Amino acid sequence: MSTNAIKEVSERLVKAGRELHEQGLVRGTSGNISAKIPGTNTFLIKASGVRMRFLKPEELVLVDLQGNKVKGELNVSLETPIHSAVYGARSDVQAVVHTHASTATAFGIAKTEILPLQVEMFMLLPKGVPVVSFEQPGSEALAEAVQRKIMGYDAVILENHGVVTVGSTIEAACNLNGMVEEAAKIQFLAMTLAGRDVLDLAKLKEKFKTENTLE
Ligand SMILES: [Zn+2]
Repeated sequence: MSTNAIKEVSERLVKAGRELHEQGLVRGTSGNISAKIPGTNTFLIKASGVRMRFLKPEELVLVDLQGNKVKGELNVSLETPIHSAVYGARSDVQAVVHTHASTATAFGIAKTEILPLQVEMFMLLPKGVPVVSFEQPGSEALAEAVQRKIMGYDAVILENHGVVTVGSTIEAACNLNGMVEEAAKIQFLAMTLAGRDVLDLAKLKEKFKTENTLE
């Protein structure tokens, strides 16, 4: 296995961890992030109990696709089963980001899906972001529930817990996490102003389609 590949992925994960903190998507030791090592059946994941803001390469643990530790000093993140389950289900996914971003998490508590009400969000997540029913953190049941839902979506909300996003790169998975939080804020504000009228997805599809055609 190429140590260069591991080094490159480590550096990108460290940078991504800092950016997730800067965007206010993670605090303290919450949240986790992982990325596959290209051409292998392994991925690097943040260790348990370390802070995303100050993440260091030695605080990443190399695991196989079943989540067993291959290399690293520290214990793997509690939510490693989610990451393993996603990679098992989606060969196109190269990175997984899990945060407790506050507004999106509130939507999970309210059991309310996030809809693509804003045009850029519509292009990125046309089906919106569904809520996965509550299961205990770190459990296989939670990993399985995420796995079932992630087949059809690149972002899911975990009821009373947080957000999981995936991507073909570390940066894409991180950006999507920020986009979900932004969409949650917009939906909350729009519903505060105009109630449930803003949630008519059929009307939105028609509107965005028409505008695209005109461009
Ligand atoms: Zn969590």
